[in-house]
Amino acid sequence: MSEAIPNFSEMHVDEPVLDELTEQYNELYLALDNAGSAQDQIDVLQRWDQLRRRIDTWGALTSLRFYQDTADPECKAARERMDELSPKLQNLAVELKKRLLNSPYRSELEARFGQQAFAIWEADARTFDPAIEEDLVEESKLTARYTELRSSAKLEYKGETYNLSSIARFASDPDRSVRHETSQLRWQFFKDHADEFDEIYDQLVKVRTRMAHKLGYDNYVGLGYDRMYRIDYDQGDVDTFRKEVERVVVPVARALREQQRRALGLDKLMAWDEGIRDPEGNPKPGGDSTWMKEQAAKMYAELHPELDGFFTLMRKRDLLDLDVRENKAGGGFCTGFPLYGAPYIFANFNGTKHDVTVLTHEMGHAFQVYSSDDQPLMDYLWPTMESCEIHSMSLEYLTFPWMELFFGDDAARFRRHHLGDNLLFLPYGVAVDHFQHLVYENPDATPAERRQFWQQMEARYLPDRDYGDLPHVDEGGLWQGQLHIYEVPFYYIDYTLAESCALQFWAQSEEDFADALERYVELCKRGGSLPFKALATSAGLRSPFEAGCLEAVVERARPALLLEESP
Ligand code: ZN
Repeated sequence: MSEAIPNFSEMHVDEPVLDELTEQYNELYLALDNAGSAQDQIDVLQRWDQLRRRIDTWGALTSLRFYQDTADPECKAARERMDELSPKLQNLAVELKKRLLNSPYRSELEARFGQQAFAIWEADARTFDPAIEEDLVEESKLTARYTELRSSAKLEYKGETYNLSSIARFASDPDRSVRHETSQLRWQFFKDHADEFDEIYDQLVKVRTRMAHKLGYDNYVGLGYDRMYRIDYDQGDVDTFRKEVERVVVPVARALREQQRRALGLDKLMAWDEGIRDPEGNPKPGGDSTWMKEQAAKMYAELHPELDGFFTLMRKRDLLDLDVRENKAGGGFCTGFPLYGAPYIFANFNGTKHDVTVLTHEMGHAFQVYSSDDQPLMDYLWPTMESCEIHSMSLEYLTFPWMELFFGDDAARFRRHHLGDNLLFLPYGVAVDHFQHLVYENPDATPAERRQFWQQMEARYLPDRDYGDLPHVDEGGLWQGQLHIYEVPFYYIDYTLAESCALQFWAQSEEDFADALERYVELCKRGGSLPFKALATSAGLRSPFEAGCLEAVVERARPALLLEESP
């Protein structure tokens, strides 16, 4: 199969034309309606799958080429045409999904393709109705306003101008006053625009609640869960998980902060000190992206034959874009071209340890989607969001034994920081999730009440955090800097659920590395054919919703983090 994958520069799909697509869909609807047997419908489904692979590949290429050169007017225009076309495409697809959901051959189709696709299509059908089209447009305008407001930040510091992303580099500056001053600048921007941040969020909560009511939900929580495809767990499960994090992880996080305070020689660890773990600063990789690819190639060659073959293919077909360039968009992600069965990794290396993590993380996503290419439906190429991150985050741990290739003598320190940072993330992650439940269960709360909700979350999950004299955050405004809360409601617990699975892979790999790795590779092949809990348990992991799931991991982590015995 890999021989058939062309070089990236040769990948091209003609832009779809709405009229032609509508005609193709109409033919598919008709063929489904007229099907005389389950097999007839299976044939139609397979034709639809080919059509979707082509459209998806066009979409992925169009977005990617725009991100690679945001100043190219042709790429930009193509991207705009795509944005206009996509709600119409969604509509065409939902109509077809509804036919499959109501098919007289549904049980045969489920036997052939599995139930997960039907569960996903049901969620699509529940969350979309022409009655909410205007609300959807309003929602996306509001999230665009939030993005614009954030991007308008011009923070002057020592004669240079920074935005909210670039100022973040000072969070790990060894000079404490630099960390403090830049934190003040950051949060002063939020304080100066507090009314607008409040107003945008207030309107988002209102429009989302309105959509929920129109679609027959009590409030936005249920709609939010459906939009995130929470298939085999519910609010009660998530609540149990948050309590486990509070009970098991918060004490370790407090011990880690105390360790950090001592390492930095401070009387009190303040919010602006949290980004620097020890006075030596963060470990740095020993070379540029070309060097990193060489190291990664050595690593994958030793790690696993399938990962080795895959990484070789990614390099040969030019499917890695790692360097910063003028007009290239920021960030790092993995995308896929299902027509070719090939993924693509996009990143912006900046010379920090983050480069190693990004490359490994995105390789996890890429290897998963590549491994899932034999799945019978497009819907199974990627799992739902919380499951997607299992593959990326777990590979970060499964490559731990090779970190000497990147960091030399600093590798042990890198591993310790990485493990510690991820444990420290869990309480924050569940705070973001719990907060959103409070917000959408109380849609009439005022902005001041929402700030109180957030302060309750901080008292519970981040009890040692001290904002000192930082503006805005001292009044419960920190969440306004977390873009997921505005842009993708309830998309956050996903990182903590996946991390809980990845940490289990880490703990298991310390016991029997080969076995853990083999189960990881097999999990990647299952793609999105199962919902989250089923995928986790299929890989020999415990569901994060089970009480006690995090205890074994934390017990193993304590000595690895050089923490004293449990109190
Ligand atoms: Zn990811």
